[in-house]
Amino acid sequence: MPRPSYCGACGAPIRWTVTEGRKRLAVDYEPHPEGNTAVSRDGRGTWLSRRPTEELPADPWEKLHKPHVATCKGRQDDEPLTRCLGVIRLDEHRRNRDERAGGDR
Ligand SMILES: [Zn+2]
Repeated sequence: MPRPSYCGACGAPIRWTVTEGRKRLAVDYEPHPEGNTAVSRDGRGTWLSRRPTEELPADPWEKLHKPHVATCKGRQDDEPLTRCLGVIRLDEHRRNRDERAGGDR
């Protein structure tokens, strides 16, 4: 088993997953029976997460986890959710980098 990552805000063990929308989502490391995120592992060891629906309920090989933001105790109210939740919008990331690169001229 891979070692867990740890939340930068509260230090809890988390697992990084990739959602169907190709975003990174941190879920609690341990499965939870009331979790609303189905987590599975693809053939290359990437953890995938998705929201089970009535049509596509969680499969037997998927484990239900809670998104870490739902249980995180380290979040400050004035901090953006993304600090802990770990949802990184790649397009935003890219835009920030481009702005920085162009700032010297
Ligand atoms: Zn946390």
